Amino acid sequence: GASAGASGAGQASASKPMTATEVKVNVSIPEAAERAAASGADGVGLLRIEHMVLSLGKTPGKYIADHGDRAFRQEIIDGIRTVAEAFYPRPVRARTLDAPTDEFRQLEGGEDEPTEHNPMLGYRGIRRSLDKPAVFELQLEAVRGLHEMGYDNVELMFPLVTDAEDVLRAKSHMQNVGIDPDKRRWGVMIETPASALSIEEIVDAGVDFVSFGTNDLTQYTLAVDRNNSNVADRYDELHPAVQTLLTDVIETCRASDVDTSICGQAASKPAMVQSLVNAGITSLSPNVDAVRDVQHEVKRVEQKLLVETVR
Ligand code: PEP
Ligand code: MG
Repeated sequence: GASAGASGAGQASASKPMTATEVKVNVSIPEAAERAAASGADGVGLLRIEHMVLSLGKTPGKYIADHGDRAFRQEIIDGIRTVAEAFYPRPVRARTLDAPTDEFRQLEGGEDEPTEHNPMLGYRGIRRSLDKPAVFELQLEAVRGLHEMGYDNVELMFPLVTDAEDVLRAKSHMQNVGIDPDKRRWGVMIETPASALSIEEIVDAGVDFVSFGTNDLTQYTLAVDRNNSNVADRYDELHPAVQTLLTDVIETCRASDVDTSICGQAASKPAMVQSLVNAGITSLSPNVDAVRDVQHEVKRVEQKLLVETVR
């Protein structure tokens, strides 16, 4: 991939603590872009494309059948552009579609969705994209179009990869649509235990960054459904088993100069900030309401690390 473009350094203000670890922000809907950009975040660590698509009220297949490829691609261009513009030149990580079949089923055209006992273990994320490359490549073409329009701050991120094969297949689709993976920054989410355990091969596949989806990584590592209140007290991103996966991935990535980030909800938990900053994570991406607190927590942890180094 390309070297890091936009840096958060230019965004420093008197009230924003200067930190070595970047603090980005998650954006779910384009309408939230302005407020997120004003938060002083160093970029967008996760921009979910699925909300742009779910808001169309039709499954991608139905929307494309009714309105055509161009219209679908344009919806995604418009959604990402709003965010890329608000943040420019700070980087924006656009994540390709990751809605599970039970969410698509609510939409017009949803009757064609497969019925699954475990949608969270099923046909979503990169699995669906690799199986339905036409819809996937329209999203990639949207990003290529944005690059051509000058929004060189848009990065691609692929969800729910299992192993390097998923990553290499996604990469070949980037090449198919004319995005040069050596010239543009791109990466994957680490949210299955298999991907964490395959990190060396995933690094070798050429990613510029990985981002921890701790919402999913926790549910899959602990076998605790993230939406099941019967086991909610067992859901813990700070569990030592999850922490081991996170810190091992950071260590491997640091050795190869691959950036690491966290975009799960736990990015705003002080104990998570402490452990990941100590492990040497590159950036954290919480929700907009937590940006300021996370900046201050990062500053505190970094100062403590400095003092320990000097002693
Ligand atoms: C995650 O799994 O932590 C994540 C950020 O993705 P989502 O919540 O959209 O599954
Ligand atoms: Mg996830």
